[in-house]
Amino acid sequence: MQALPPLSSWTDRLRALTILGSIGLISVLHVLTPGPAEAANHMASHGLHSALEGLYYIPLLLAGYWWGRWPAGTCGVLVTGVYGLHTQFQLGGILDPANRGRLLALIIFPAVAFTTGLLADRLRRETQALLDAERQVRRAEMLAALGELSAGLAHEIRNPLASIRGAADVLAASFAPGSRDEEFARLLVSEVQRLDRVVCDFLQFARPGRAGDEFADPGACIQATFSLLRSPAAKANVKFTFDGAADGRLVRCPPEALRQVMLNLCLNALQAIGQGPGTVSVQAEAPHPERMRLVVDDTGPGVPPEQREAIFRPFHTTKDHGTGLGLSVVAKIVSGCGGTVHVTDGPEGGARFIVELPLAPPGIQVPVPEVVG
Ligand code: ADP
Repeated sequence: MQALPPLSSWTDRLRALTILGSIGLISVLHVLTPGPAEAANHMASHGLHSALEGLYYIPLLLAGYWWGRWPAGTCGVLVTGVYGLHTQFQLGGILDPANRGRLLALIIFPAVAFTTGLLADRLRRETQALLDAERQVRRAEMLAALGELSAGLAHEIRNPLASIRGAADVLAASFAPGSRDEEFARLLVSEVQRLDRVVCDFLQFARPGRAGDEFADPGACIQATFSLLRSPAAKANVKFTFDGAADGRLVRCPPEALRQVMLNLCLNALQAIGQGPGTVSVQAEAPHPERMRLVVDDTGPGVPPEQREAIFRPFHTTKDHGTGLGLSVVAKIVSGCGGTVHVTDGPEGGARFIVELPLAPPGIQVPVPEVVG
């Protein structure tokens, strides 16, 4: 809760000057304009005095719209203070029965400012949620288009690969066992097999995600990821930590897909740190009854705000040997499971990736964990 208005930019300072300046100006004019007692015979002055009271609402509404509920509430209290002093010392006292309307105004000023701020805060939150949702939809559409294109391409590659493999098998069988020719033919077979596996994996990425009924234990997936990265992490002097506050809860996502998500995020974190000492810390928390949040923090250089959207696009990379596919795979898997992913600043200056996934319904059994590494 921040009760004071922000003053960090010139726009903020100009807004503060406008609001506080107009409250000050209205107060001075108000004090100088004859009130009902002095203006008994001057209806015009009396009318002006009342109109000036109404003018206070303009800066209060602006404060609510620009700053939100708490700073606007503070401005409301300020107006109540100034107006209260004026009523007390110039208009016969707050408790004077003739000033009942003014007493009510003293309560209404902060209430109007706070309520306007409350509505503006809500509008801002809803607009932000809408923008986020639109960004996610755009990302999903882009990935779907990429998926279709690459699925077609991968299919075209696999057909000739099958022919090459068949021919290499025949060749290998025709050479004398143990000869150099046979060795080369076998090498050809095994390399074709490897290529086929790579294309298969890629096809898996390109295939539309299954939002089916598969569930994963995030704790187990994170531990499996740590095991896979143990050796490069030790070489780079990087420590992995896991805080499983939401341990035991399952998420709606195939376990192998969640492992892939965690692996891509942790590997990126490790690469961002480079040579340690450094730390990659992962937390699993369930702040909402229907969603689990997985947070990956690192002590690397972080992701500059202007790149935070681009890094999720396929083929966007800043690494010499990067493919730029890691985070788009993460985004694709997560959105396919009905979740979201975004990046922000970490608590120690590095990057913080936040993945939110739907929680499994209660009663779903924990799958038997796979031991990796
Ligand atoms: P790749 O790792 O092949 O570059 P990714 O899609 O995984 O592809 O990442 C895209 C880009 O996002 C990276 O090149 C890097 O610039 C940025 N990035 C990803 N993770 C981090 C991180 N933890 N810290 C800083 N930058 C990151």
